[in-house]
Amino acid sequence: MAAIKRVLVTGGAGFIGSAVVRHLVDRGYEVVNVDKLTYSGNLESLRSVAGSPAYRFCQADICDQPSIQAILADAQPDGIMHLAAETHVDRSIDGPAVFIQTNTVGTFSLLNAALDYWRSLDADRQSRFRFHHVSTDEVYGPLSMDSEAATESCTYVPSSPYAASKAASDHFVNAWHVTYGLPVVSTNCSNNYGPFQFPEKLIPLTILNALDGQPLAVYGRGENVRDWLHVEDHARALELALTRGQPGQSYNVGGRAELANIDVVQMICTILDRLRPRADGSAYRELISFVPDRPGHDLRYALNPSKVESELGWAAQETFETGLEKTVRWFMDNEWWWGPLRREKYSGQRLGAG
Ligand code: NAD
Repeated sequence: MAAIKRVLVTGGAGFIGSAVVRHLVDRGYEVVNVDKLTYSGNLESLRSVAGSPAYRFCQADICDQPSIQAILADAQPDGIMHLAAETHVDRSIDGPAVFIQTNTVGTFSLLNAALDYWRSLDADRQSRFRFHHVSTDEVYGPLSMDSEAATESCTYVPSSPYAASKAASDHFVNAWHVTYGLPVVSTNCSNNYGPFQFPEKLIPLTILNALDGQPLAVYGRGENVRDWLHVEDHARALELALTRGQPGQSYNVGGRAELANIDVVQMICTILDRLRPRADGSAYRELISFVPDRPGHDLRYALNPSKVESELGWAAQETFETGLEKTVRWFMDNEWWWGPLRREKYSGQRLGAG
């Protein structure tokens, strides 16, 4: 294993963060999970590691710099993986303030705490330390259908309040490297899917609404294209970026699986027709309907992952077909996890991605 042994993960009770925590604990790292537990944070996603001596949870807000400083001083991590964020584009349209507060101001606050901590380390630990910032393909803005997938050198043109708040945070992370020498590594990923995803996002919402016999209300004509990445492939890429990524560099992590939203919804319907045929014999796709598009709905996002593949030796292990079928099966088998969330926190209808 690389020189990094103890990792502080922010947002480790979220969808990707919990996959990262499970992956790191399985791989022998010590993990301190710092999470505020907003609506999308769920400690039930960490049941499998909760009893491990290598895992510790601290409930804290990344915007609360004194608390984060105290946690860092106590935990003495070799690296920080920063995933805590507000993440749902629809929510950012309805209420952008919390996105700017958490994603932009919170990252600024975390950078300050990390810089203070990093400066307190001896030269050897300073050289090994990494601040790993996890961001999104949405910072590059919409692509036309025939343009090349975004590389790390593409211009930032964010469209939604969510994307703008993440783009701002990316710039601050880079500035803390250039100005103060903090050893940062950034990754920008495409749309993740897999187990333990909060059921407001396209894939889990489609699966659960279909199983419930509810309408599958797709934005526009469902033509918006996203690139899909299995969350466990992403977790492996993030470990590589943390341990092998070059300070000051960013890496695009995409799944090489571009699909229109309507195709994703239809693929889920086809899998469900096979795994759990409807009682009346009708096809799940008969539940599909189209609703007015959301404002500023970017047509296409796509990432070119050549750099993470060639420089860090990463490759996705799941195809979209294998990963999607595993995900459908996981949601069919794990109502204990999503049932309370559907009942108590969210039972929405509109189907869009990222
Ligand atoms: P998520 O919404 O599932 O989880 C976010 C986590 O952050 C939750 O556990 C929440 O409680 C925590 N959190 C929120 N505000 C906090 C605060 N102020 N202090 C501490 N914790 C706080 O998100 P996710 O899908 O796991 O995304 C993780 C990261 O990956 C985010 O930075 C997101 O922008 C990025 N990303 C996600 C996707 C995707 O498809 N899910 C795609 C691209 C980038």
